[in-house]
Amino acid sequence: MRFSRLRLSGFKSFVDPTELHIENGLTGVVGPNGCGKSNLLEAIRWVMGENRAKSLRGAGMDDVIFAGTDRRPARNMAEVTLVIDNFERTAPAEYNNEDTIEITRRIERESGSAYRINGKDVRQKDVQLLFADAATGAHSPALVSQGRIGSLINAKPQDRRQILEEAAGISGLHTRRKEAESR
Ligand code: ATP
Ligand code: MG
Repeated sequence: MRFSRLRLSGFKSFVDPTELHIENGLTGVVGPNGCGKSNLLEAIRWVMGENRAKSLRGAGMDDVIFAGTDRRPARNMAEVTLVIDNFERTAPAEYNNEDTIEITRRIERESGSAYRINGKDVRQKDVQLLFADAATGAHSPALVSQGRIGSLINAKPQDRRQILEEAAGISGLHTRRKEAESR
């Protein structure tokens, strides 16, 4: 599985529809302070099902929606789509017949988020499980945000264990067990 495209609209500073092609290999994002580099990483984490406003540098979930500037009015909706290429057939079983997997998250002010995988409405949990099984979740150690290294070093053993489980791709099993137990 490989990220191949990222589409944003109304997400933080990316108010106009924007599509980025993510090429094979290492990608660097460069630009002056405040141009939106961290917002891009947050968009990836958000579309994967991140729900902690703080890790998206906001006070509430609606803060990901373009808040307006002197010259442009605020938006009421934000949408991010992550396109994954699965030509090597390494996706979790449920999606492994697909050449590409498109995950979309959309939020409207005061009415929360909706998710789609390849155009089909799904639960947030389905998106989180897809990435947990692929060991690249929103909380995955593969996504390291500014300041995270320090907090890793100071983490409690229990929190550190959770990070290791994400890396090993077994955190999806815990989620499924919890879901089964609550039935
Ligand atoms: P640095 O090099 O300092 O790390 P950066 O390129 O990572 O900067 P970001 O932190 O991604 O920059 O972008 C910050 C910009 O995004 C700020 O100008 C901020 O006003 C804008 N921004 C964040 N949230 C919103 C929002 N909801 N609506 C409009 N603009 C926003
Ligand atoms: Mg930054």
